[in-house]
This record gives sequence, C-alpha cells and structure tokens, in this order.
Amino acid sequence: MAERILIVDDAAFMRMMVKDILTKNGYEIAGEAEDGKKAVELYAEEQPDLVTMDITMPEMDGITALKEIKGQYPDAKVIMCSAMGQQAMVVDAIQAGAKDFIVKPFQADRVIEAIQKALS
Ligand SMILES: [Mg+2]
Repeated sequence: MAERILIVDDAAFMRMMVKDILTKNGYEIAGEAEDGKKAVELYAEEQPDLVTMDITMPEMDGITALKEIKGQYPDAKVIMCSAMGQQAMVVDAIQAGAKDFIVKPFQADRVIEAIQKALS
C-alpha cells in the first residue's frame, strides 16, 4: 500500500510542486494544510505516514506545529522544508525531532531520497 503523506506549506504552488513529485513517485497524498494549526488538526485526523512541513507560515509556524505533533505523536515522521538562510531554525527543528530537511527550490530526487530515508 502506498505511504500517505501530509503536505504543509502556505504557498499553493509549493504544495502543488511537492504533490506532483510525490504522486509521480507512487506516494499517496493524505492531505494538504496551509498553516501549522491546520497541519496539527489534519495530522490527528489522517494519521499520515509522513509530513513535509514548511517553516514560515501564518497562524502557526512549522517549528511550533512540529513540536505539537511530536508532543502528541512521538513517532511522527516530519521532514522540514526550509528556505536559504533558515539554518538556525532547521537545527531547532532537528532537535525537536524532525527527521530531515529539504531546501527550496526542491529537487525531486532529493525530496524522494529524504522521504525514503525517513520512512525506512
Ligand atoms: Mg512558507
């Protein structure tokens, strides 16, 4: 059965790009969220196998959402999506339990590599 992934990003085109990479590689989309608050809610509803989590978002940022999800579901697998210049936040995220990070602009092979590694 295909692994189900929750895509979290406030930019619709980024979600579309990740969705495209994932579906082309046989993954199923568990849902999409445009802010951290929705991500926490959707995680609880959908129990996805993995989350791709943007860092900078309105309502609730990705680091806070990561911490909330990991607090409720310690086994949650979350990969952070960062932009250039967010190294400090990436370190914070890894310490909070993120599995890995991918840097925008995304390269399909790097995204898939990170996901395969996190799910293995
Ligand atoms: Mg963003």
